[in-house]
Amino acid sequence: MNIALIAHDAKKELLVQFCIAYCGILSRHSLCATGTTGKMISEATGLTILRYMSGSQGGDQQISARIACDEIDLLIFFRDPMTAKANEPNENDIFRLCDIRNIPVATNIATAEVLIHGLERGDLDWRNIVNPAHS
Ligand code: PGA
Repeated sequence: MNIALIAHDAKKELLVQFCIAYCGILSRHSLCATGTTGKMISEATGLTILRYMSGSQGGDQQISARIACDEIDLLIFFRDPMTAKANEPNENDIFRLCDIRNIPVATNIATAEVLIHGLERGDLDWRNIVNPAHS
């Protein structure tokens, strides 16, 4: 499966800890991330991550484009709900595209835990049927 990872600054350390905890599961999938998020996760875990540009520089739009092409199977995007972001319209577009493509999204760690366990259990295997290239 192709998994996209994004975290706002206030949530980056939380996502790093999440990736450390689930490194074994994540290592069996193709990972991509926005620039700083990907750098922090790969440094902390050793996971191979395709890194796009920083979110503010268009990295979220690069991930949006992959979602639009149905190339992403799961999005984990830890948002900071307390701080307004200059690129918020682009970020909202990510969620819109996920809804168009029926892509599971976690915006907080509680949902991310549920999705990662579901991923491990095979609950998302229907995505391989929709798109065999993702397995
Ligand atoms: P970053 O981008 O991972 O490059 O910081 C994510 C964000 O929009 O904060």
